Amino acid sequence: MPLSVLRTLQVVFLLGAAIDAVAAGVADIDTAAIAQPKLTDWPSYGLDYREQRFSTLDEINVDSVATLGLAWSFETDYIGGMEATPVVVDGVMYVTGTWSVVYALDAGTGALLWKYDPQVPKAWGKMACCDVVNRGVAVYQGKVFVGSLDARLIALDAATGNKLWEVQTADTGKFPYTITGAPRAAKGKVFIGNGGAEFGVRGFVSAYDVDTGALVWRFYTVPGNPADGFEDDTMAMAAKTWTGEWWKYGGGGTVWDSIVYDQELDQLYIGVGNGSPWDRKVRSPRGGDNLFLSSIVALNPDTGQYLWHYQETPAETWDYTAAQQIMLADMQIDGRMQKVIWHAPKNGHFFIIDRTVGKLLSAQPYTKVTWTTGYDLTTGRPRQTAEAQWVDRDETTTVYPSIAGGHNWQPMSFNPNTGLVYFTSNGFPFQFREKPYAHQWGEFNLGTEFASENAVGDFQLMQTLIRKVVRVELIAWNPQQQRSAWRKELPGAVNGGTLTTAGNLVFIGDHNRDFLALRADSGAVLWRFAAQDVPYSGPSTYQIDGEQYVAVSVGGGGVAGLTLSLDQRLLPARSRVMAFKLNGTAQLPALPQASGFGDPPALTAHDRTVADRGEQLFGTYCFRCHSLAGSSKGRVPDLRRLPRTFYDRFNAIVIDGAMASMGMPGFKAVLTSDDGDALKAYLLIEAEKDQVLRAQPLWWVELKQSVYDVVAGIAVRLL
Ligand code: CA
Repeated sequence: MPLSVLRTLQVVFLLGAAIDAVAAGVADIDTAAIAQPKLTDWPSYGLDYREQRFSTLDEINVDSVATLGLAWSFETDYIGGMEATPVVVDGVMYVTGTWSVVYALDAGTGALLWKYDPQVPKAWGKMACCDVVNRGVAVYQGKVFVGSLDARLIALDAATGNKLWEVQTADTGKFPYTITGAPRAAKGKVFIGNGGAEFGVRGFVSAYDVDTGALVWRFYTVPGNPADGFEDDTMAMAAKTWTGEWWKYGGGGTVWDSIVYDQELDQLYIGVGNGSPWDRKVRSPRGGDNLFLSSIVALNPDTGQYLWHYQETPAETWDYTAAQQIMLADMQIDGRMQKVIWHAPKNGHFFIIDRTVGKLLSAQPYTKVTWTTGYDLTTGRPRQTAEAQWVDRDETTTVYPSIAGGHNWQPMSFNPNTGLVYFTSNGFPFQFREKPYAHQWGEFNLGTEFASENAVGDFQLMQTLIRKVVRVELIAWNPQQQRSAWRKELPGAVNGGTLTTAGNLVFIGDHNRDFLALRADSGAVLWRFAAQDVPYSGPSTYQIDGEQYVAVSVGGGGVAGLTLSLDQRLLPARSRVMAFKLNGTAQLPALPQASGFGDPPALTAHDRTVADRGEQLFGTYCFRCHSLAGSSKGRVPDLRRLPRTFYDRFNAIVIDGAMASMGMPGFKAVLTSDDGDALKAYLLIEAEKDQVLRAQPLWWVELKQSVYDVVAGIAVRLL
């Protein structure tokens, strides 16, 4: 037999064996297997149903971690945010990337086994508030489940990646729903929510049959129009906490991240998002708590029936979602073990909630908080401050934490050996200023201004000030003592989730694009790897042939990363998955250098006149993806440095949508060609400023930087 035929047969045989192994692995994953995972696997988004993200693997530990090295890296198809926790079963990794693409990899080598691209229409990217990210898959009984950005739930054959069924989970023809969260599976059902509260949708969570994709139940998080009849008594109860004609604005309350099944109590918990729009006066003009915004709601997992709720931010009006990770735990309180939820949502408090009945046991601030002075444990309600009320006020109101949240989607982890929960925190404020609300389909409708202009004028100084004002930390929180055990300052606002292990380690990716291992008991940094981009997801860990691996998705993005300039001299890396093991010797390819930028066309006197209006339009329509003065990075190019041809075709792209297939939609519905001219004029002025800055010699830039550092340091202390 010719050698080539033998080789072909060998490949076919090996592939067949690999596919069998894939099928066998996930085929065994059911409710019991997720509740008690094999030591070698990471079979669900948060490891198991309790979502504590603690692994008993300890080959990589405080003594051995110095020899940790890259085992392999896998490059995805896109640049951009990568938030998916790698799920691993029997040596196969299932992970999602930008645009909801699913990759199945050999977890020992990083070799691609299969890929599934749901072909999300790129123009739908505009409907995502916070980048076209995806936080991962659920695996269950031989299938892999993914929610796509355009709100489909798709079941794939775990062995081949072939599509088994697909359902449209929300009416995207009428409303701009998106999915970025990982589905969860239990009891023969797969649970999925959605996002879109910034765009005027009504939140809900659905359960589908894992085999057929049939809808089993749906629970709405806010009531609909009473004239249409309420779906159930729960909606009638919730409607009593709303006033006016809230249904016209959607109401919000999207369940875009945490959905957790409690196997011990047979309850399903959902974390509910913010109000739509943010200005409560618009959606509920005569007050009210607005259930179930910013709440944890417990449901019957079989029927979707309401069991209990706890509202963390009644009358939510600061984008304080409660969608963040719900962690299940048991702890000693008043001398007896109690079943609790630990929750560190955007509103700045670490909550301990009795998960049998939904009663508040503790709420302590983990970061600076100005919207409340604390919680009354008898009523469970916060004592809200007058100073944080920005509605009906003709001035700018500064509120801590910001709309980014004291803590956001970045997964936290709990180490039972240290008794500590590890999570990142952003301690900066947001400035609200009410503006007239006007509903525009598919546009950001919030009822507050977004600061857009480069107020300081000098971009370098602006960035320095931001760095100084932003207090970002990795917090090790002791729930028993209701305070932090240690805090480690992080270098900037874009950081990843955490993993903790029996090796007394915490793993996290930071803003400086490093992947770190710290001592879980003290926070001392023991190991660091330069990852070229932010290791952004919650890391996971698993074992193959007796060797422990730690894996993480790498690709800064999301609401902060999308709008944050990093080093503009280098082109960004494609988002990746990286896996590490002791004595790993793999290397990352070098980052490509950016070539020269095109010269923008010259400005006319007319341009200078209309640019002010362009700046205002930029703040309303462009800022949230393109950042300050168009200075975004990576997937979204720096608009100040585009080739001249872009400026020549400006209105064709921005108004008519000539680049819609690449993710830059046209704004014909809301902008005229005069508006396009104004935007172009504004960006040309910013490009000119940028050229002046870039022409400065490096020594001058560095000297200015050190002066700015000192000035900004003093200014921040005085503020
Ligand atoms: Ca939000």
